[in-house]
Amino acid sequence: MTTHPLLARLDAGLAEIDRAHLRRRHRVVSTPCRPHVRADGHDVLAFASNDYLGLAAHPKVVEALIEGARRYGAGSGASHLISGHSQAHAELEDALTAFMSPHLVDGRALYFCTGYMANLATISALAGKDADIFSEALNHASLIDGARLSRARTHVYPHGDVDALAAMLATSTAETKLIVTDGVFSMDGDIAPLPSLLALAERYNAWLVVDDAHGFGVVGENGRGVFEHFALRSPNLVIIGTLGKAAGVGGAFVAANHRVIDWLINRARPYIFTTAAAPSQAHALLTSVALISGDEGRERRAALQARIAQLRDSLTLRHWQHMASPSAVQPIILGENAAALHAQAGLAQAGLWVPAIRPPTVAPGTSRLRVTLSAAHTQSDVARLAAAINQLDRDWREHAHG
Ligand SMILES: *Cc1c(COP(=O)(O)O)cnc(C)c1O
Repeated sequence: MTTHPLLARLDAGLAEIDRAHLRRRHRVVSTPCRPHVRADGHDVLAFASNDYLGLAAHPKVVEALIEGARRYGAGSGASHLISGHSQAHAELEDALTAFMSPHLVDGRALYFCTGYMANLATISALAGKDADIFSEALNHASLIDGARLSRARTHVYPHGDVDALAAMLATSTAETKLIVTDGVFSMDGDIAPLPSLLALAERYNAWLVVDDAHGFGVVGENGRGVFEHFALRSPNLVIIGTLGKAAGVGGAFVAANHRVIDWLINRARPYIFTTAAAPSQAHALLTSVALISGDEGRERRAALQARIAQLRDSLTLRHWQHMASPSAVQPIILGENAAALHAQAGLAQAGLWVPAIRPPTVAPGTSRLRVTLSAAHTQSDVARLAAAINQLDRDWREHAHG
């Protein structure tokens, strides 16, 4: 048997991925998402998920999912515009509209199956090929892909560099200008300078599109995310929040002026040509949003902040660099891919699961351990993590790596 040329090319590509220490693989988790999980048959303490408030396995959310399935069945049966838009989706959109309204003018929320699709839909539907997109250098892949799909001109500005962005905006003559950024950066954990970005948007008559996947539920007194954190409100704003992270379930919402939402419903192909998520999921999210916006959400955010402060105060690193952030994402930079993998393996030996993040997810030379904290972690969980990281860092020179 000869190997088909396509498969031969894939073999060569995978061998190259191996040589660069970039091979990725699944781990099979056989317990609910929580700090102590069973993965590939081993009990481990995980700092790997984006379940920042510990809602993914919250009994009330799980109960609501079951109740939603009893009430609405297992699947939606069709796309939203054919017959798949359930009362559960409509109720969730009403709840999200009310929740996010302090930051919008004439705002409305639209539910999507995933954040990836919400970003593809929003950018490709708002930016035609004559638009200018100003895209932050560390934006999530889904924002980059949305810009590609739009065929607009894309100008990438350096991370956090408001002056560079201003210079780019000043030279644009496009009628439609979109400034596109993550709210909380997914691999660095820092928060975008939104007051300055919004001021620029207003000055240059641009729209500000913010993907708050890691801010929604986590930052702001009531968990409304980065716009609450900075107390900002604007008519020319599009907020995308994902609901598979802090909200613990899945899907995403876009919140913006109701005409923007109507346009997405009519023109956004990633919205139109896909089957609506299960109504039970939307029903469960009604409970998530109620928890996030209520007293329990406030308590969980306070617990998360306590764990963040504990980690920052207990790391004593000599060789690696902890990028302390105000969010649940706490990266530890090692640099080389092999070093990050070696550290990941060392932590695994101590029963800890912390993912090594390598290019293309982060820039070459900045491979890292991406520690994510959750309100569900206890003080002793974080103490165990800090002790293991400190130990590995202290012994680092003795290892052969890279
Ligand atoms: C996770 C993530 C997404 C994608 O959301 P999904 O619901 O997982 O598809 C989009 N943007 C950012 C910044 C993310 O971290």
